[in-house]
Amino acid sequence: MDNRKAILFSAPSGSGKTTIIREILKRFDIFEFSISATSRAPREGEQDGVDYYFLSPETFAQRVENQEFLEWEEVYAGVRYGTLKSEITRIWDNGHVIIFDVDVNGGMNIKKYFGVNALALFVMPPSVEVLEQRLRNRGTESEEAITKRLARSAAELGMADQFDVTIINDDLEHAVDETQRIITNYLCN
Ligand code: ADP
Ligand code: 5GP
Repeated sequence: MDNRKAILFSAPSGSGKTTIIREILKRFDIFEFSISATSRAPREGEQDGVDYYFLSPETFAQRVENQEFLEWEEVYAGVRYGTLKSEITRIWDNGHVIIFDVDVNGGMNIKKYFGVNALALFVMPPSVEVLEQRLRNRGTESEEAITKRLARSAAELGMADQFDVTIINDDLEHAVDETQRIITNYLCN
């Protein structure tokens, strides 16, 4: 199998991408997570160089200027997220398949860049109400940040049909099994 491939997960915030990705990473050692850079502050428990590369807004801007990003987006006003080109070589040099967790615009850009070498998955919450509930229950965001995330979600949900596959994340176990089946099928063909 050619490992120079990528699986990308996009969805509105709170849909469960991170949770599904963590489960997939536990089940297989062939995958490696592409650590994005962000200008937002770490949440409790998040580690620099594990969950994200946490950069100051100034350092982020400098690295944009240096053309170090494959793609980047200002996902929320004043908060930037981006995929460093160095992540792709790092992970492929390790012989691993890349897993991306990016917003829907980033997902579309990465899919265009990788073409058939990437599988684009959209993680769909069972409903907008459940999405909001999950975001609140996660307890990591301020009310302002929750409002910003929900405000984007309708437009993001409308982009699901541009992805290769949609995974409905209702029952977690079922969603992870389905993701595993789809990824395995993609990598074996
Ligand atoms: P995202 O990475 O898409 O922003 P998370 O993976 O952080 O979303 O999930 C948001 C919250 O919803 C977390 O608290 C997570 O534990 C919870 N969650 C994820 N999937 C499910 C599910 N299938 N059923 C119930 N809760 C879920
Ligand atoms: P969070 O702040 O919840 O970790 O992430 C917020 C949003 O930013 C999520 O939709 C996540 O997928 C997206 N994101 C994370 N890293 C990147 C990236 O490198 N590029 C883009 N375009 N979006 C990203």
